Amino acid sequence: MAGLAYDAIESHDDLVAFSRQYAREARREWLLDVRLDLVEWDVSTRARRRAAAVKRPRVPDATIGEPIDWNRVPDSDGRPLPCTVSLSWEAFEAFSRAEWESTLRHELLHVEQFQRDGTTDHGAAFKRRAREVETDVRCRTFATPEWLFRCGDCGTEVARRYRDCAFVREYEAYRSDCCGAGLVRSQPE
Ligand SMILES: [Zn+2]
Ligand SMILES: [Zn+2]
Repeated sequence: MAGLAYDAIESHDDLVAFSRQYAREARREWLLDVRLDLVEWDVSTRARRRAAAVKRPRVPDATIGEPIDWNRVPDSDGRPLPCTVSLSWEAFEAFSRAEWESTLRHELLHVEQFQRDGTTDHGAAFKRRAREVETDVRCRTFATPEWLFRCGDCGTEVARRYRDCAFVREYEAYRSDCCGAGLVRSQPE
């Protein structure tokens, strides 16, 4: 399968396509016990510090380490209830490919735990799995942008970028909306 290159991601759909494809690879490579057909994906543009999160229904009487009988869960047909991996566009812009993939493995461990036990946390079982799949225990947060672009006339901030991308390389071709002026690039404090 021709994979979508990380550097070619330009839209939310691209980011979801890349992340789904990586999830399939990670499932094989790291032997993740996840049912990806029961996982949905979305992209959030709301400013937040977490790079990604798993949104899941509350399952009553679920305990980490005790596999759940999904047949007794209301609304379930015997399979795990669907959950959603919510991706942060800002985090994607801030992260290298390796950081993004590590973030996805972290979230897939939450999916694994949820689908087996009906709930998930960052406790001892999660820590053990995180070591096995070489990801962080804490949900990743992300940092300040690498570059700021301002209008060359009035100084209004026009864009910020977190890593090298086409815009960073070609910003001289852009004009500001406010003044139609060229952009100046600076690095934030
Ligand atoms: Zn987490
Ligand atoms: Zn301006």
